[in-house]
Amino acid sequence: MDLRESPEIAEFRKSVRDWTLANWRKPAAKAHSYEGMEDDDDLRPWFKKLAEKGWLAYRWPQAYGGPGFSEPQQIVFIDELNRCGAPIPHGFGINMVGPLIYQFGTDAQKMRFLPKIAKDEERWCQGYSEPNAGSDLASLQTRAELVGDEFVLNGQKTWTSRANVAQWIFVLVRTDSHVQKQKGISFLLVDMQSKGLSIRPIRQIDGRASFYETFFEDVRVPKANIVGKINEGWTMAKALLEHERISTGTNINLQKVVAMVKSAAREYHMDGKPVLADAQFRERLVDLEMAADCIQYTRYRLATAVMQGKHPGPEASIFKLFQSELNQGLYELAMESMGPDAAAWYDKRLAEQMYDIPMFATIHRAMSIYSGSNEVQRNIIAKRVLGLPD
Ligand SMILES: Cc1cc2nc3c(=O)[nH]c(=O)nc-3n(C[C@H](O)[C@H](O)[C@H](O)COP(=O)(O)OP(=O)(O)OC[C@H]3O[C@@H](n4cnc5c(N)ncnc54)[C@H](O)[C@@H]3O)c2cc1C
Repeated sequence: MDLRESPEIAEFRKSVRDWTLANWRKPAAKAHSYEGMEDDDDLRPWFKKLAEKGWLAYRWPQAYGGPGFSEPQQIVFIDELNRCGAPIPHGFGINMVGPLIYQFGTDAQKMRFLPKIAKDEERWCQGYSEPNAGSDLASLQTRAELVGDEFVLNGQKTWTSRANVAQWIFVLVRTDSHVQKQKGISFLLVDMQSKGLSIRPIRQIDGRASFYETFFEDVRVPKANIVGKINEGWTMAKALLEHERISTGTNINLQKVVAMVKSAAREYHMDGKPVLADAQFRERLVDLEMAADCIQYTRYRLATAVMQGKHPGPEASIFKLFQSELNQGLYELAMESMGPDAAAWYDKRLAEQMYDIPMFATIHRAMSIYSGSNEVQRNIIAKRVLGLPD
């Protein structure tokens, strides 16, 4: 990728920045700050504005309700939102099931679902994991039997994030149990209001409930809601996970996290001096900062590949793996710089000054688990990127 900016891209950058500065307003501080919370209600007004501008589904082609940004434009768009401190649009609809529907869905599915996702009128959740199927997802047991023109679903999903605010769920179901496990799975779109579908919160240590168990008892789903063909759900599942990993990997503003560590290390003192004055601390910070810059250039490399018509494929795992571990490393450093204050779970004064470091350090532990655990990412990279033997 040529990193010198063309006049068109420079103009585009300016238009994104001007618009974002004019439209983004940080929500008033609540008991908790806005990022990564139980539901995104605080972000709805911002997402609405992005949707009106046609920028919410910022990776999507124009034909499906996106802005049709080129890869360099997408990078500039993320950079500028980050620079203005504005959240990058996210969600199971725009990042996952939407792209899958325009890639593999029927015309009727595209017409029914995509406009509502792009306008933020319908929200989605993901029904993949089950009590006995996480990393080994293909072992899933939620059954769907075709009866006439409907599938009848029975079983249970778990860790369904934001099930309480979603109108739709995409689920992987077993449609054939007599074949190799990957070959008997289908991908269905299910209305959360369906009779027989219920959810139950999973309470976290902090008292909130970000996840739900989702139960299906004779839930009837129209046959037309299958994406891809019957028993081809594994192909859909893998395609969707690539979209998920790219978005998990590219949406974090590591530069902002680095700046947060620096400001924490300036604020807190050790032996009468700011923590940042400590040579060993600085050395560790510089290592992580250089790694953050490397990730930025890897993003450009990926963009170049896509512009040349190549499919990112399993390389998306590299992003997810390195971004998540780097992010966790930076938060650990920030926690160290805070000394005993890091033990406070939530402190409004600290939160306002320090981006609520202890809480986010804890929340970000999850990044190496969701979207496929990092151990599993290493397996994928070893096999499918590096071509190592089993
Ligand atoms: C914050 C968060 C949000 C989530 N949201 C959703 C959601 O909305 N919808 C959904 O369907 N799921 C969701 N999940 C579930 C997530 O996808 C699973 O937790 C994940 O796939 C791991 O599965 P598991 O928890 O069953 O762990 P397990 O698969 O039981 O793994 C346990 C440990 O063993 C390791 N391991 C397993 N297999 C291998 C292997 N072959 N080689 C090396 N190590 C291995 C794992 O890395 C892990 O450390 C979410 C999880 C989190 C943390």
